[in-house]
Amino acid sequence: MHITMVKKIFADGHPCGKCAQAEDLLKKRSLWNRINRIVTAAEANPDSEGMKLAAEYGVELAPFFIVDTGTEKRLYTRVLELINKELKTPPLSFLSDLAAAVQRYASLEPQEILAEAQKKFAEGLAISFSGAEDVVLIDMAAKNKAPFRVFCLDTGRLHEETYTLIDQVREHYGIALEVYTPNPQLLEPFIHKKGLNSFYRNGHKECCSIRKVEPLQRALAGCKAWAAGLRRDQNPATRGTLAAVELDENHHSPDGQPLVKFSPLLEWSSRQVWNYIRENNVPYNKLHDMGFISIGCAPCTRPARPGEHERMSRWWWEEAAQRECGLHKP
Ligand code: SF4
Repeated sequence: MHITMVKKIFADGHPCGKCAQAEDLLKKRSLWNRINRIVTAAEANPDSEGMKLAAEYGVELAPFFIVDTGTEKRLYTRVLELINKELKTPPLSFLSDLAAAVQRYASLEPQEILAEAQKKFAEGLAISFSGAEDVVLIDMAAKNKAPFRVFCLDTGRLHEETYTLIDQVREHYGIALEVYTPNPQLLEPFIHKKGLNSFYRNGHKECCSIRKVEPLQRALAGCKAWAAGLRRDQNPATRGTLAAVELDENHHSPDGQPLVKFSPLLEWSSRQVWNYIRENNVPYNKLHDMGFISIGCAPCTRPARPGEHERMSRWWWEEAAQRECGLHKP
């Protein structure tokens, strides 16, 4: 299911208040990420995509929504009707298994958790690749000899060494590694307005949202489950309550169900990760040999200082509780 929202800009340049209210409502109900595409109907420009859609569907109100199921297109001019008819999460059969699964997976080894995920979801499972832990997951998944997908997010601000690793991983495992980049329609106005390094002044949330969170939504479109190399001790403040398997209400499969999210390495320490990397000859980022522990974008990562917690080397100018990029919302 693909949902397009058409928002209006009045002829005098003012944005439509009802469109903003609809957006707020969707956000309050955690449904905003179910809108796949936003199109503008500029009253002053009949050739704008939204105005053409309004003419095509004979709509004069704003906002309106077009739901494309693949076999038919349905129009909604009221956000509440859209929510009630299309966005209410259907009861999940997986839910009945989930409480038991959380308990059972807590006693499984990471590779066993992945094997179960691969068996259950096959190509519907995507491994998110960015750090050393994620390559460990890829190595385990490859050894399980069952299907999986791998994607990574190229923010445009990664270190050269990270780009080298991405291609190394692709070649080492012989996989089609999917690389997602920021949407230029979001990125360019942001840079034009705030410059390239606004995160040092305004915090990293907006930049991460454009360079990471939005591409993640595209990477996960079509998935039923995803796996990431999160470890609980990376950031007890934000990862303390995670489980090795969870329902991710921030992302949904094409049939509207929350994705199942696996964190097989949740209880592993950094030492266990590195033991695995060395014992299994897993490719790793050469920045680790230069003192980096947790590696993200170049301007927001520094080598760890002696005795410093690994997360201190990311967005070090912000509070500890803020040091998450938004990819892994609770
Ligand atoms: S880590 Fe830094 S550069 Fe990368 S997306 Fe976030 S704020 Fe932007």
